Amino acid sequence: MASYDYDLLVIGAGSGGVRASRIAAGLGVRVAIIEDRYLGGTCVNVGCVPKKLYVYASQFREAFTGSIGFGWKFNQPEFDWPTLVANKSKEISRLQNVYDGLLQKSGVEIIKGRGTLIDQHSVMVDHKKFTAERILIATGGWPYIPNIDGKEHVITSNDIFNLEDLPNRIVIVGGGYIAVEFAGILNGLGVEVTILERGDKILNGFDEDIRDFLMQEMSKKGIQFKLNTNVKKIEKNGSLFTVLDGEDNLIETDLVMFATGRLPNSKNLGLENVGVKTNNLGAIIVNDDYQTNVSSIFALGDVTNRVNLTPVATAEGMAFVGKVYQKTDTVVDYENIPTAVFSQPNVATVGMSEVLARSKFGEDVKIFKSVFKPMKNTLSGIDEKTMMKMIVHKSTDKVIGLHMVGPDAGEIVQGMAIAIRAGATKAIFDSTIGIHPTAAEEFVTMRTPVA
Ligand code: NDP
Repeated sequence: MASYDYDLLVIGAGSGGVRASRIAAGLGVRVAIIEDRYLGGTCVNVGCVPKKLYVYASQFREAFTGSIGFGWKFNQPEFDWPTLVANKSKEISRLQNVYDGLLQKSGVEIIKGRGTLIDQHSVMVDHKKFTAERILIATGGWPYIPNIDGKEHVITSNDIFNLEDLPNRIVIVGGGYIAVEFAGILNGLGVEVTILERGDKILNGFDEDIRDFLMQEMSKKGIQFKLNTNVKKIEKNGSLFTVLDGEDNLIETDLVMFATGRLPNSKNLGLENVGVKTNNLGAIIVNDDYQTNVSSIFALGDVTNRVNLTPVATAEGMAFVGKVYQKTDTVVDYENIPTAVFSQPNVATVGMSEVLARSKFGEDVKIFKSVFKPMKNTLSGIDEKTMMKMIVHKSTDKVIGLHMVGPDAGEIVQGMAIAIRAGATKAIFDSTIGIHPTAAEEFVTMRTPVA
């Protein structure tokens, strides 16, 4: 049998790669992980973690305003962006150290540098060759900017966290997760935000009511939407930018951010040296066991462009280790994956949208919907409403879709997702006693379907 430096070489120390490495090493597998940027990948460094910290930062504005109705008095609060950036960076460094410690403690060797495949069992890092019985590619994704005139003037979510100064105005191109999350953050921090979206609504793929309701609530907070328009050109004039949209309108702004999706990070990995197959977007093609067409090479997470969410990548990491090293039949169930958008208000969802449910079951669905003013806003004076929606398969009574726009939607829907995965019927929801007074109790008290 051939002898290798390691049993497993992992390229990419993001959520999926780190999880797979640690769990495998814990089983006695000889593992090394190769990373050329930062431990923790997008989520820890330029994604979920700093984003959520910035969401918290931006929510204080409304909290201050809202507190007055509850009797609080204070002088005008001021926001200092450099303090937020510095404190965020300190927290990210702490987390990088935690990752470093976790990897080392579980016996994973960390190799710093860029890994390039040179054959089915070998990876070159800075002119040094490392061999392994198996190679796992978990290199994630990278922001995609369409090829438009002036694209060199724009920033992406990779850059926004560490801006030296906050702009007065920003144009955000795109209407997906990142666009709406950053629109909320920047609006909360006092930036004038315009979203430019090529479709007629934000959050493509989400339930239509959610899309409409979120846009309405974001508009109330002062975020502007320009829909059904593309960007033709971006020009830089001194410190200002002008965006020429599809109707030849010029929008002047202080910063332009593109949040137009992410592509699999599969370039310059040497895939072509080994013949690893990718699709037209560069996603590495894998089978149900995360194995590529080259039997010793595996891939998981965003580089395979299936469901691009951190918890999915970590679940795939566990499933990979289970299958390869424990011979268990662990599979990731891609049905009913809950997801949240940390917009303001929050969106969270699990299961089917109404459109999908109707396309599958036609008239055999019942819709329950509730729109209300959260209790806090009776005194805060803040004009933000909450919406909850449930989609029920009439003939089986199963809840097949559950959606929410409102504070802490992610926290609430995480719990609801368990019930839905367990196949809970509407009758079970109805017989569950509510926790009063909460917004979440609405999900167990909706009795009358929408006509
Ligand atoms: P999304 O895919 O969510 O949204 C991309 C947006 O850009 C859409 O509105 C899309 O329009 C638009 N777009 C795409 N191409 C063009 C183009 N050529 N010109 C104009 N507009 C275009 O991507 P994001 O960048 O927002 O986020 C990337 C991924 O990261 C997400 O899909 C998600 O998987 C993950 N993520 C998850 C988060 C979470 O879990 N909370 C948070 C942030 C990111 P259209 O709708 O018409 O296609």
